Amino acid sequence: MQITHCDKCKKPIEGNAITAGYGFLCRVELCRECGKPVDRFLKKNNLLVNKSANPKEKRERS
Ligand SMILES: [Zn+2]
Repeated sequence: MQITHCDKCKKPIEGNAITAGYGFLCRVELCRECGKPVDRFLKKNNLLVNKSANPKEKRERS
């Protein structure tokens, strides 16, 4: 099993990591503690990287 490390505090992330992306090449994964303010910011600005669903893409197709 792959262990993801937080890009900020370098601790191993337990459970779901918060993935922040700036385009496709630059991605950071944060633990919940470090990702909390980032997560709020990203959600506010619709920048949160969602691995499972992409509603924007679905809308463009239909
Ligand atoms: Zn962290």
